[in-house]
Amino acid sequence: MVISELKLGVLLETKKPHPCGGTLWKIVRTGADFKIRCETCGRIVMLTPDELGKRARRIVGGEEA
Ligand SMILES: [Zn+2]
Repeated sequence: MVISELKLGVLLETKKPHPCGGTLWKIVRTGADFKIRCETCGRIVMLTPDELGKRARRIVGGEEA
């Protein structure tokens, strides 16, 4: 996934599910570190842009969604 597409508020699907079973995440922080929130359980995970680029499968919604 191209890192430039990973913007604040974007809803994305990851390749591997969270332990809770959810695969939908919202980007809640961008910058040197990204924070994504699991839309199923609400847990927040911090990771680098590179890591997120590898984990993300596709974008399923934007800020307006
Ligand atoms: Zn979860």
